[in-house]
Amino acid sequence: MRIVVDLDLCQGHAVCQAEAPDVFAVPKRGKVEILIESPSSDQRAVVDDAVTYCPTRALSIVDDGKSENKGE
Ligand code: SF4
Repeated sequence: MRIVVDLDLCQGHAVCQAEAPDVFAVPKRGKVEILIESPSSDQRAVVDDAVTYCPTRALSIVDDGKSENKGE
């Protein structure tokens, strides 16, 4: 899996960082930075949560060429 972020949507709420601090870093007044673009399957659950709870739906996970935006 691969994480895709739409930086036009990201508003720096840092929910993703709270859910998966190993994968996402959000500076105080900035936009998300993906630390691990292709997380291991161990991290799937927390990354899924981050995608689900991002208030602006800026995050999505790409799996096998398909885009899936959790929380729809
Ligand atoms: S939770 Fe969403 S809006 Fe907030 S920093 Fe992460 S990607 Fe950006």
